[in-house]
Amino acid sequence: MFAQREAGFTYSRTGNPTVGLLERRLAALEGGAGAVATSSGQAAVALTLLALAGRSGQSPDGEAHAAAPAGHVVAGDRIYGGTADLLNDSLAEAGIEVTWVDSKDPEAWRAAVTPRTRVFLVESIGNPHGDLADIPVLAEVARASGVALVVDNTLATPYLCRPGELGADIVVHSVTKYLTGNGTTLAGAVVDTGRFDPAAQPERWPQFTAPRRRFGGRSLVELAGNHGALLHLLRAQLLNDLGPTLAPWNAQQALEGIETLDIRMDRHCRNAEALAQRLCDHPAVTSVSYPGLPGSAWEQIAQRDFSHGVGAVLSFELRGDIAAVEQFFAGLKLFVLGANLGDGSSMATHPAWTTHCRLTDDLRARSGITDHTVRLAVGREDLEDLWADLDAALTLALPTSAKEAA
Ligand SMILES: *Cc1c(COP(=O)(O)O)cnc(C)c1O
Repeated sequence: MFAQREAGFTYSRTGNPTVGLLERRLAALEGGAGAVATSSGQAAVALTLLALAGRSGQSPDGEAHAAAPAGHVVAGDRIYGGTADLLNDSLAEAGIEVTWVDSKDPEAWRAAVTPRTRVFLVESIGNPHGDLADIPVLAEVARASGVALVVDNTLATPYLCRPGELGADIVVHSVTKYLTGNGTTLAGAVVDTGRFDPAAQPERWPQFTAPRRRFGGRSLVELAGNHGALLHLLRAQLLNDLGPTLAPWNAQQALEGIETLDIRMDRHCRNAEALAQRLCDHPAVTSVSYPGLPGSAWEQIAQRDFSHGVGAVLSFELRGDIAAVEQFFAGLKLFVLGANLGDGSSMATHPAWTTHCRLTDDLRARSGITDHTVRLAVGREDLEDLWADLDAALTLALPTSAKEAA
């Protein structure tokens, strides 16, 4: 097993039977070839980008030579704040370059490709506005450019969207969120959908196709097969060397959560749909962004790819000044002021001051996040309780004149 001639458990940093069960279950839910679990969603994204866009992929012999530049990632600009931080700071330290592009403009993705580009990264449902990615279109551009399409499917879960069926090569998850479902556990996963095939373009993916010193002079494709090469690099090198391993107890929490995924997601979606509708008519709200609203910019994608709903994250813009924003948050009693999502409890967040506070000014402007943007991660409480809480806090935030009119 240590010589990697036989699969098995040698040490818990690279695998454990309980974690293995979660990996098989997530792979099955996504219709994928296999999965590697990680200690968090951040680790899943980071390891995937290191594997695909690291230095070793830019040298014909597949080794990470100091003189070789690292790869390049093109990422959609409507993205989770932690992923923006990862690319702008920590992966930049490792030499991996990023270009942020308009998520919904396929031409912008095509135009951003350079000879070093190896990854397109997008969220199936974006954060915090619920932008829906047109995965089939991005997959086509990625394939034509010889680039792997990585989709962060955290906000959708495989119950709402299966990116592999729509053309994605790799799916990443923060299992912390809806998959586990109770805000109790950090966990992440990388799923190989079975589409990523480095052997089809060996010169583009030398880290998988060239004989590697690390792997006894064999290539990863030789060692683990076309559809196991990425997962083997993630597990046998990156998880082993860097150590962001999922604990078995956390895997067990996630496994229990997944048992009720469909029922929970239905409740999350129905609550979010109703609140989005009602918010549109509230005098304290100037606009609502939720892909489930009739006439939304993503209506067509929602109907085509999301038959069970479009998730439970939405944003809206508050009328008034900063004092009104503060009053709104202070007025909430049931909504928790918190940065999590996918919990049973509904959360209200101020992205500009919390989840997205480290974004560059440029990326914040592209993200459509203002000082008046409120993100809701709608939970599973009673709808009328949720609306009563929102309505009361919104009414507090209204200027006095408007309060009288309302
Ligand atoms: C939360 C989240 C992450 C990071 O996951 P953690 O489990 O918190 O490390 C990545 N992507 C998205 C879309 C998320 O919501």
